[in-house]
Amino acid sequence: GQCSAHCPVGAIYEKDDTKAVWNEIKENKKHVMVQIAPAVRVALGEAFGMEPGAIVTGKIYTALRRLGFDAVFDTNWAADLTILEEGSEFVKRFTTGGTLPLITSCCPSWTDYMEKFAPDFTENFSSAKSPQCMLGTMAKTYYAEKSGIDAADMIMVSVMPCTSKKYEITRSDEMFASGHQDIDYSITTRELARMIKQAGIDFVNLPDSDCDSLLGEYTGAGTIFGVTGGVMEAALRSAYYLITKEDLEQVEFQAVRGMEGVKSAEIDIKGTKVRIAVAHQMGNCQAVIDQVREARDKGEELPYHFIEVMACRGGCIGGGGQPHGATDEIRAQRTKGIYTDDEKSVLRCSHHNPEIIRVYEDYLGEPLGHKAHELLHTTYKKRPIYQK
Ligand code: SF4
Repeated sequence: GQCSAHCPVGAIYEKDDTKAVWNEIKENKKHVMVQIAPAVRVALGEAFGMEPGAIVTGKIYTALRRLGFDAVFDTNWAADLTILEEGSEFVKRFTTGGTLPLITSCCPSWTDYMEKFAPDFTENFSSAKSPQCMLGTMAKTYYAEKSGIDAADMIMVSVMPCTSKKYEITRSDEMFASGHQDIDYSITTRELARMIKQAGIDFVNLPDSDCDSLLGEYTGAGTIFGVTGGVMEAALRSAYYLITKEDLEQVEFQAVRGMEGVKSAEIDIKGTKVRIAVAHQMGNCQAVIDQVREARDKGEELPYHFIEVMACRGGCIGGGGQPHGATDEIRAQRTKGIYTDDEKSVLRCSHHNPEIIRVYEDYLGEPLGHKAHELLHTTYKKRPIYQK
């Protein structure tokens, strides 16, 4: 975990949580659960000499079980859940005159930046928690109830393409919605690779396996969260349904795909025009916000109704926790892996995920309902830039 690529004398090390996770597994006192983010599955193989973009989801599930995790879940499941909440939030704001544009909030680097440098937009943030956080909460509430295991005896570990996710797990009181810390440790793709190597597992030759049920099944919409434009595309697939009560014939939105810094489009939802923008990398995100602020402060028509922002170039596939040395070529290969995973999926819209349908029927009630609000939403506030 030496960040030698950035610190010339090796004085700065990344926060390494692998020892703590090993301890939890070896102590064997608690039910140790794990979840993997969308972008991890198209990059982890690189740490074992595989091609960037190789989809190694099934091997990861197997590796996690061999490492000793008691339950293996998938953050993509919670990405589908995020879309139901965030898509409903967008439709509600859009149809009832709520604060617009709605700005996605699943990138913690971005929300931290906004709270410090653009706090006049906190009302615009989607209150829906990020998929990582939703899965943590649902594991220690819904899954605890279904499995009969006390949440106090559970440990949740997340594997993320991202170093900021380590901060997100304690960013506000809502990260303790289950009555416990919802996620105990967040490790990066690189840290997981290290653990697999420490265990002497021959990753390349592992058989595939499935993840555990209740918090595992996912659609193509959940997987595309890993690339810039993916959250927007997933949200549009379900927003179309929520507005029209009909499903799209063509679920792919080419206008939000690709590496352009800011992509914008006007989407026609049966005569209703929705103006969207997608930005990745901080400078581009800031430029979009400046454009919105200028129009808003002059009382002019807003340029956008819905904005997706990701701090990393290319989105999470290019995240700071991924195998080092990403170039645009490697980003393109990982992106291709993500879209291939989506294309191969039988179900491509979050609202079709049977486990998500079931969790609302059995446990949560309606999207944006009382219980969903309590467990799956968060708040934002102005934060000081510097504190003594
Ligand atoms: Fe983390 Fe980067 Fe993804 Fe933001 S875009 S959630 S910082 S990996």
